[in-house]
Amino acid sequence: MHFLDQAKIFLKSGAGGPGAVSFRREKYIEYGGPDGGNGGKGGDIVFVAVAGLNTLIDFRYAQHFKAKRGAHGMGKDRTGAGAPDLVIEVPVGTQILSEDRDEVLVDFTEVGQKVVFLEGGMGGRGNASYKTSTNRAPRQHQPGEAGQEMWVWLRLKLLADVGLVGLPNAGKSTFINQVTNTQAKVGDYAFTTLVPKLGVVRHRGREFVLADIPGLIEGAAEGAGIGDRFLGHIERCRVLIHLIDIAGSDPAEAYRTVNGELAAYGAGLDSKPQLVALNKLDLADRELGEGFADELLAAGADKVFAVSGATGQGMDALMDAVLAHLPESTATETKAAPVEDSDDAEASEWSPL
Ligand code: GDP
Ligand code: MG
Repeated sequence: MHFLDQAKIFLKSGAGGPGAVSFRREKYIEYGGPDGGNGGKGGDIVFVAVAGLNTLIDFRYAQHFKAKRGAHGMGKDRTGAGAPDLVIEVPVGTQILSEDRDEVLVDFTEVGQKVVFLEGGMGGRGNASYKTSTNRAPRQHQPGEAGQEMWVWLRLKLLADVGLVGLPNAGKSTFINQVTNTQAKVGDYAFTTLVPKLGVVRHRGREFVLADIPGLIEGAAEGAGIGDRFLGHIERCRVLIHLIDIAGSDPAEAYRTVNGELAAYGAGLDSKPQLVALNKLDLADRELGEGFADELLAAGADKVFAVSGATGQGMDALMDAVLAHLPESTATETKAAPVEDSDDAEASEWSPL
């Protein structure tokens, strides 16, 4: 089971600035010596692994990274200014792969790990540096060294922050598609089709990874250990969304069944905070929904949300509750994310039908 996020990006380090050709001009000195300074160094492309990033989603919006070129050398032996490095932040766990994806070039395993990936070009020599006893007025100079450029792939194994549980047919897959496509507004996000059981949700400018973990429960029931492959996800999950089919006959029974399986699975699953949501709200009338919500409260739920994975109804309130369970470092404030305002934002735990 590989839950991968990946992005192809173009990198270019800055060219060095060209060296200058210049001669001193001084009063009363007819032929001043050469004084053209060297060009400045071009900016490096630097990667750094940081805490607080979960996904490569920002690389969907920005794919080209070019460091600036160094400044020209100048007269009076002034060296051109070096260009600043272009520092690209990636989540821990990111790998940089060659364009053909055959080779892992860098593996970021810890916070703070920093790699100068492409060096900026050296500045060219100015004519002052060519002065010799036999050539007192050199006009030679160098252009700056070119920057290096390269396409690479970034690849990250995603770990879920939020687990989605519920009986078969509770609507988990539909739910993931809904929040991934509409909340995150990244319908073309590649892995939503590659791995439909996992999605990145972007909500109110923060993002988190949501995983459907049915295999876990089915695997545990069979004793087949299928769920072991999800162990990393389970450990990482801060909160579970427990979906219950409003069109099912006995929601409280469904709730107890799933909780029984979570407890049987172990790995701390049953002690994770749970957001209980009656799903398929579009299929039920208000009275039925409220009755079911009361039954769930009686069965032990702290609070019952009502949502429709099909229509998106009630999602904002539920996603707000999810964010409240995630530490800042898990659900990152992302620069590129527009904060979404929605009329649903006021929805309470039981939204009107
Ligand atoms: P999963 O087994 O938990 O992944 O459930 P699915 O997402 O596959 O959904 C099971 C069935 O319920 C499918 O036929 C879905 O079309 C339907 N379904 C899921 N969510 C909703 C919903 O919010 N409203 C309605 N009307 N149907 C839904
Ligand atoms: Mg499913």
